[in-house]
Amino acid sequence: MTATARPEELDGALSRLDGTGALARAGGTDLTACLAAGVLAPAPVVDLSGLDELRGVEWRPDGSARVGALTSVGELHTDPGLAGAYPALARTARELATPQVRTTATLGGNLLQRNRCWYLRNPAFDCFQTGGDSCPARGGDHLYGVVVDQGPCVAPHPSSLAVALLAHDATVLVADGRRTEMAVADLYDAADPTRDHVLEPGRVLVSVALPAPVPGERAAYRRATGRSRAEWPLVEAVARLAPADGGSGPVSSAAVAVGGVARTPLRLPEVEAALVGARPGSPLGTGVEEALEGLAGLCSPLPATGYKVDLLRATVRDVLERALDAPEA
Ligand SMILES: Cc1cc2nc3c(=O)[nH]c(=O)nc-3n(C[C@H](O)[C@H](O)[C@H](O)COP(=O)(O)OP(=O)(O)OC[C@H]3O[C@@H](n4cnc5c(N)ncnc54)[C@H](O)[C@@H]3O)c2cc1C
Ligand code: SF4
Repeated sequence: MTATARPEELDGALSRLDGTGALARAGGTDLTACLAAGVLAPAPVVDLSGLDELRGVEWRPDGSARVGALTSVGELHTDPGLAGAYPALARTARELATPQVRTTATLGGNLLQRNRCWYLRNPAFDCFQTGGDSCPARGGDHLYGVVVDQGPCVAPHPSSLAVALLAHDATVLVADGRRTEMAVADLYDAADPTRDHVLEPGRVLVSVALPAPVPGERAAYRRATGRSRAEWPLVEAVARLAPADGGSGPVSSAAVAVGGVARTPLRLPEVEAALVGARPGSPLGTGVEEALEGLAGLCSPLPATGYKVDLLRATVRDVLERALDAPEA
């Protein structure tokens, strides 16, 4: 890693990043690994940790929150205010990586980390993401690849927090010369095989905005992994159920999002629609069972990822059962 600057003003960081080829570093947990593996060429590093504008949580009068990009993954589930208001996000953060990683890794860095494809992380291979013109994983070993094949790159999106934030309809504030708000859903583009998010080099992700909490929300997060700790999930799912009467009534609206299956986190609108009317504490109804069966129709497995069809269905079933049984937030 070459020279590191640690500006204390956002404009200072932007001027060091814009058009210079320099790389932004937050917690450094993925950036350092990418530089070591040759995913990124050596370049000057701009350490964002001195930027107060990227820190803290701002609570609005309507109860909504703007969370700084430098907030650690750990704080998302240990901060009582955030965990109480946004249980789906908190439960997702709690399951991610290890306590050491959660202490260092940041919200912004998590959303902008590179995917885990072993061809990408092996300097012996070129691919779309490293200036090449092919995807060696598609015809090679793609055991952990997508099961919803949306484009030339077959690496699943790596960010668990993006799955939760998609279920929250969250937005991000991005700074270049000005400030632009964009939906988390628009931060990722499955059709572009050359990168894992659409942020242009030189931009800084400042914060994430979450809508006002839902009273009585029932939330759950589940992941299926090859080992119990320190591993990215094969499939993960987040469910947020809003009961009528602000508590124990039937579900009036639902948000269900999944990761590990496609180039971007995905919402499951058919499952969400089928959940309306479901009663907390009751088994999943026929409509939900049919929607779960229908998930196979969403899938277009690669030769080695057919196992993820059943895993997707089972993980979503699990998360829904837990959300219906979950205590009210
Ligand atoms: C053992 C292990 C298990 C893991 N399991 C999971 C998992 O299950 N789910 C999951 O989601 N992640 C997992 N991770 C990944 C981990 O969460 C990420 O490495 C971490 O969140 C990245 O955050 P960071 O602050 O360290 O980012 P950095 O490494 O500092 O940066 C990552 C990227 O984002 C850019 N960047 C960072 N912040 C900004 C900003 N504010 N504006 C513009 N660009 C920025 C950097 O330039 C870099 O390209 C795991 C990691 C390990 C080591
Ligand atoms: S294009 Fe995507 S899936 Fe293919 S080798 Fe590169 S990162 Fe892996």
